[in-house]
Amino acid sequence: MRTQLYIDGQWVDGSGTLDVIDPSDGSVIAKVATSSDEQNLAAVDAADRAAASWAKTAPRIRSEILRKAFEMMIAEADYLAELISKENGKALPDAKAEVNYAAEFFRWFAEETVRISGDFRMAPSGDKRILVTHQPIGVSLLITPWNFPAGMATRKIGPAVAAGCTMILKPAGETPLTALAIVDILERCGLPKGVLNVILPAQTGPAISKVLHDSRVKNLSFTGSTFVGKILLKEAADQVIRCSMELGGNAPFVVLDDANIEEAVKGLMMAKMRNGGAACTAANRIYVARSIGDKFIAEFSKAMAALKMGVGREAGTQLGASVSIKERNKIAELVDASKAGGAKVHLGGTTPDGAGAFYPATVLEVSKDDKILANEVFGPVAPVVLFDTDEEALAMANDTEFGLISYVYSEDLKRAIRFAEGIEAGMVGINRGLLSDPAAPFGGVKQSGLGREGGFDGVHEFLQTKYIGVEI
Ligand code: NAD
Repeated sequence: MRTQLYIDGQWVDGSGTLDVIDPSDGSVIAKVATSSDEQNLAAVDAADRAAASWAKTAPRIRSEILRKAFEMMIAEADYLAELISKENGKALPDAKAEVNYAAEFFRWFAEETVRISGDFRMAPSGDKRILVTHQPIGVSLLITPWNFPAGMATRKIGPAVAAGCTMILKPAGETPLTALAIVDILERCGLPKGVLNVILPAQTGPAISKVLHDSRVKNLSFTGSTFVGKILLKEAADQVIRCSMELGGNAPFVVLDDANIEEAVKGLMMAKMRNGGAACTAANRIYVARSIGDKFIAEFSKAMAALKMGVGREAGTQLGASVSIKERNKIAELVDASKAGGAKVHLGGTTPDGAGAFYPATVLEVSKDDKILANEVFGPVAPVVLFDTDEEALAMANDTEFGLISYVYSEDLKRAIRFAEGIEAGMVGINRGLLSDPAAPFGGVKQSGLGREGGFDGVHEFLQTKYIGVEI
């Protein structure tokens, strides 16, 4: 297990350590090195020194490093999944799915590395030529959250390698072990020294602010909360650093009156319960047509009640622990406030005793003004609101500052598409509860972010466009 920092191709101790906790019992799994300001600067130095030769490295070579890393991640999937489950708390099936998803970013971007195209054309005047090329933007700071410690790292490292950018990765303090294990794989696949460096400052805010004020850093790719995203956008303004922001979500899941209830329940189980509800894509506001409300809530509550909660890596567990007691308590506070405000509890809603950061699968029926709907509940809690008309459902779905993802269920495709077109979100699932796909553009509108990861767009977050005008 890697627990040191990785700077300029060397595994090094830090200025201190932080404890990585197993949230299912509170035990310390490992002590991971924290980086000093000097080490953060050394990481920028290394990334900057490596930048020119890495940008010139043949796309085929960069592509093959990613391809090998994909294969190695798949070969080591069981180990990686256990590690994720241990430090994050999630159930092993979720962790295994994450390893596959994460590895697929390496495969997808291995394929993209050799397909970055430009453009050469005649200017409308006829006497000039327009040559458009895309160059690596340069040293990129990658900051990732704890909920998908592998997927959010590879979704950034993959396109950065494809584009030819060097990197400084700052994983979440709760889950650094997975990121370090992935970096170890990339090192074994031949990633040259300095191309990817890992830092982990003990005081994140001030340390990252210094990195962002270093004029050699050209790009920031951040995944995390909207709250921290806004702070970083302000920090990045000083050097006018290019920003790609994958921020919070508060997804509506809308079940129209002609939906196939069985399919919608299955879809909601995915949209709500993948990762124990700790996903930016998680359905957090479930709007169900009143005419089918009782039946839907009954079937959904039955499916939720059947989930086995327990230690993530133990056989049979479907709902693991939250990442920390602090995160679990946030979930509990939102549910308690909702209950106090008159929510009807169909399932769960009570914090279990014991040392682990567990919270049970919970189904609430709430009014459309319940505060729980205004918050991103990062856990297994499903607040359901009943509605009477499609227009009312659309207005409620859009009544949020977030716009990452939405889901709509209807057997009438025309009606569903009209609904999807009216939804303010970067992604909409029609009769689907899981949309994440390395080959598709992932990202949000409104305060859910800027830019797209994955798909054909992902690599362009690490490229800048250069126009070369030619007189003929
Ligand atoms: P967070 O914003 O608290 O932390 C994210 C990362 O930012 C961590 O590495 C953290 O250490 C770092 N950070 C915290 N304060 C910082 C500061 N002042 N300066 C620089 N870095 C700082 O988010 P989290 O709790 O780790 O993750 C959950 C959030 O992430 C949710 O809001 C979720 O919706 C969002 N998320 C979004 C996506 C997406 O693709 N849109 C994907 C996953 C998670």
